[in-house]
Amino acid sequence: MRFIETWTQATLVATRDLTPSIREFLLRPEHFAGAAYLVGSHIQVAVTIDGRPETRSYSLIGECGADGYRIAVRRAEDSRGGSRYMWSLAPGARLAITLPSSLLSIDWTRRHYCLVAGGIGITPIIGAAQALARRDAAFTLHYAVRSRADAAYVDLLAGLLGDRLKVHAGDEGHRLDLDAVFGSLPENTMTLFCGPMRMLDAARHAWTAASRPLADLRYETFGSSGLLPTDSFRVRLKDENVEIVVPRDRSMLDALNDAGFEVMSDCRRGECGVCAIDLVASDGEIDHRDVFFSEHQKREGRKICPCVSRARGTITVDMLHRPDVI
Ligand SMILES: Cc1cc2nc3c(=O)[nH]c(=O)nc-3n(C[C@H](O)[C@H](O)[C@H](O)COP(=O)(O)OP(=O)(O)OC[C@H]3O[C@@H](n4cnc5c(N)ncnc54)[C@H](O)[C@@H]3O)c2cc1C
Repeated sequence: MRFIETWTQATLVATRDLTPSIREFLLRPEHFAGAAYLVGSHIQVAVTIDGRPETRSYSLIGECGADGYRIAVRRAEDSRGGSRYMWSLAPGARLAITLPSSLLSIDWTRRHYCLVAGGIGITPIIGAAQALARRDAAFTLHYAVRSRADAAYVDLLAGLLGDRLKVHAGDEGHRLDLDAVFGSLPENTMTLFCGPMRMLDAARHAWTAASRPLADLRYETFGSSGLLPTDSFRVRLKDENVEIVVPRDRSMLDALNDAGFEVMSDCRRGECGVCAIDLVASDGEIDHRDVFFSEHQKREGRKICPCVSRARGTITVDMLHRPDVI
């Protein structure tokens, strides 16, 4: 669920390119006092996309420093433009941000932990690694990247963790074998995961196959990356003579709301399920991009989260919209 959001103005103090597609931003909010925040915290940043105000979330890198908040933004090419907007900013820019809040809940009483990051998913994991290292906890961080050149913060992490850091770089032939990793963890291990949707699906399969309780696999999603390419598709409304086109650069939720068919929503990143609507028929494929429904529910295909999920072809939904009921 959403947090109460407190917005404040911040100044972009400095930027630093960590890899060809990941840039770090140091943001200093007004009245910054360097107060500690929870592990896994993120802030929201007000961005402008095609002249429209939107927000994007970014995890805070590591524990709080004295000079401001650090975030790292991967430039997403196939996207609506939030990350491109961030990359267009130069030091001195002013922008609105929220105070930090965390979606990752960590049980600090465990004896063993496993951290797994895929690509830009390393950002919330860094603070967890620092906190666990300080507590002298038993853990390993598995960091999967397509190529070594894509791996941000490797030097920082190697210095902090030594051989507790395992980098799995595809271009070096070291692919992360989640079945092997999860199969060999001590009992009662808690795993913190952050990575793309396909990798999260693989992690959930491997975790279940290793007979571990799903509640011990804690994850953060960056939302909206799916299994099918992002393309336009059509939505028909049951019992209404209406067909709406969802453009490539809009969500189904936005398209329905724009057309006057209001859908309640909250988190808008496929986590809370508030916007879920009934799926009645589909002549193509559904790309469930939420983490709210279980695998089983997604296979059944009776509901869809229009804030992030998409489709190929035409789908029919029932929003229980009754024009005669006020
Ligand atoms: C809690 C949290 C923490 C995050 N932390 C980070 C972080 O540390 N670093 C970071 O780089 N990002 C982070 N993100 C992701 C970030 O908020 C943005 O989503 C990201 O920058 C991409 O924004 P965008 O507008 O460029 O791309 P988007 O348009 O949001 O596209 C992202 C991906 O979604 C797909 N997509 C494209 N169009 C659509 C559409 N119309 N509907 C649905 N999907 C579409 C594409 O596959 C694309 O690659 C975080 C997200 C959350 C929720």
